[in-house]
Amino acid sequence: MKKFDLPEKFKKEVRALLEKDRAPQSILLTGSTENTRRNAAVYFAAALECEEKNAPCLTCRACQKVLSGVHPDVYWVESTGKSDSVRMDDVRSIRETCYVVPNEGKRKVYLIPRAERLRPEAQNALLKVLEEPPRFSAFLLCSESRAALLPTVLSRVVELSLGDSRDDGITKKQEEKITGVCLAVCRAIAEGEEYALLKALVPLEKDRLAVARCADRLGELLLSALSGQNESEEAVLLGRCFSVPQLLKAYDVLTGVKEAVDRNANTSLLLCLFADGLCSLFPARHG
Ligand SMILES: [Zn+2]
Repeated sequence: MKKFDLPEKFKKEVRALLEKDRAPQSILLTGSTENTRRNAAVYFAAALECEEKNAPCLTCRACQKVLSGVHPDVYWVESTGKSDSVRMDDVRSIRETCYVVPNEGKRKVYLIPRAERLRPEAQNALLKVLEEPPRFSAFLLCSESRAALLPTVLSRVVELSLGDSRDDGITKKQEEKITGVCLAVCRAIAEGEEYALLKALVPLEKDRLAVARCADRLGELLLSALSGQNESEEAVLLGRCFSVPQLLKAYDVLTGVKEAVDRNANTSLLLCLFADGLCSLFPARHG
């Protein structure tokens, strides 16, 4: 059996997403090395095709085919030959074939291992399918960083990070601060308390690194709340207080915050995005 040297956090996220068949159809894998991103894409593809409950089992017929690169419904889309960029023709062929039902698998999976090589016009062409993907298709994009992709494309994908260089400079004191903020934020949004939410975010002022880490951490908590595998107090709280669409909306808010971090937005703006986005979950609950 092929060994996957991937971060445990990533494998856990994949399993959580697959658990209740809530796998997003468009996924972006970022961070780490190209090799790791490729492996992660294969792992995710196996999870999407796996015939067993604990996907990816890595041993069933479908998993085996994906791992050995012979699954008829898993396609690699990448530049061959001299050209460095993924050709428009390749994207066109995705658009032509993705509406045809899978041969034998559960889904048609398109792997784009170097999405950073997609020129803007190719990204725009791809966007058309990402906007309304056929229900049996999935798209796995890999890129060293999200900066190489158009904001319109980024808004259509769920990003999973394979290792965060931003973690490097975190001190123990900061780590404790982040844990404290995350807990306070979860409590505030679960109670629908706008003021408590604003207060919870105060320690993040002037600390971009902590904003980014909090967004990451809260994203992980939302994923575990979505999967129903609530291992922490915060995830239990979120799972109890919010519906699936609300949890997904909150996840989008955090993705927006992380995008703004990558664009080097200042911390005041980041905290506004954070607070406004999460407050937008409240009105329906206030009644
Ligand atoms: Zn399997």
